[in-house]
Amino acid sequence: MGFENNLRKIAPYVPGEQPKNMNKVIKLNTNENPYPAAPGAEEIACNLKDKDMRLYPPTDAGKLSKAIAGYYGIDHKNIFVGVGSDDVLATAFLTCFNSEKPILFPDVTYSFYDVWAALYKIPYKTVPLDDNFKIIKEDYLQENGGIVIANPNAPTSIAMPLEDVEFIVKNNPDVVVIIDEAYVDFGGESAIPLLKKYENLMVVQTFSKSRSMAGMRIGYAFASDKIIQAMNDVKFSINSYTMNYPAVEMGVAAIEDEEYYKATIAKIVKTRKKAVEELTKLGFKVLDSSTNFLFISHKGVKAKDIFADLRSRGIFVRHWDKPRIDNYLRVTIGTDAQMKKLYEALKEILG
Ligand SMILES: *Cc1c(COP(=O)(O)O)cnc(C)c1O
Repeated sequence: MGFENNLRKIAPYVPGEQPKNMNKVIKLNTNENPYPAAPGAEEIACNLKDKDMRLYPPTDAGKLSKAIAGYYGIDHKNIFVGVGSDDVLATAFLTCFNSEKPILFPDVTYSFYDVWAALYKIPYKTVPLDDNFKIIKEDYLQENGGIVIANPNAPTSIAMPLEDVEFIVKNNPDVVVIIDEAYVDFGGESAIPLLKKYENLMVVQTFSKSRSMAGMRIGYAFASDKIIQAMNDVKFSINSYTMNYPAVEMGVAAIEDEEYYKATIAKIVKTRKKAVEELTKLGFKVLDSSTNFLFISHKGVKAKDIFADLRSRGIFVRHWDKPRIDNYLRVTIGTDAQMKKLYEALKEILG
């Protein structure tokens, strides 16, 4: 068929499985937060009125962007809000990466980066992590058309020190450097303080992980006036009403409840610490995590086999059949009760 030649062909990003029988399974495969969103956010969801659905939402999600910018002490003209950080990152790729030179990102990282590059026909080059899955900052001094780095990185869980981030941003003044901080609240160091010094830096964050709101789709970017203006121009050339009204209101409620947010993070960090001990006892190598997940590899049993056995028991973790990481599993930190079931299952599988 002739028309088929005109269709855009792209191998899409593959998200972690969302199983059907949610009640029966333990879901440790997509880094969702096991705890509910802030009580204030839930209350808004329960009290939605006719007009909240009938009218168009504000185009700039102004109430939400002001609340987030205010929380981080950023000027309102330096924030861009989008439908999850995936939307923000996709817009950022389209806006900021328009060079003939390849953009750079690590060989082992968030598997959406190469999909966006392919979709927007952006040339790219992957930069190998070292043998311990760490980013080598000097490798980002080569010629490039832009840089994107997840910090802490996923799925490795490893954080890069802020000095290394600064080294990369400072030595690449002619391109935009995007730091994807989806997991920073669980123990990384945010690059937000560097925004004052570097006009070529963009910091991207999300409510999906640390604020338990993956289903509401709230993400945002901080950057210099010029970058944010260009991002808005691109966004308003596609769809101006991206944020729905409930997401705006619920996001504001979530950001206002600092105490609840801190308590949730503290619970997850505590469970993570215990999980490192338990999994190490079971013979796993556990990478040093600054996130809400662990990246683990077993000395004796193949990751692929452990993955399949856990899945048959209704415990979902993540495995990639990709070079360098095919013997690793990524395990989201769940509640203490969920993790206990995981350790028990692993004892049986490995025993
Ligand atoms: C989860 C994740 C995102 C996207 O999250 P959203 O739900 O779209 O906000 C972005 N980057 C990384 C590295 C992630 O793990």
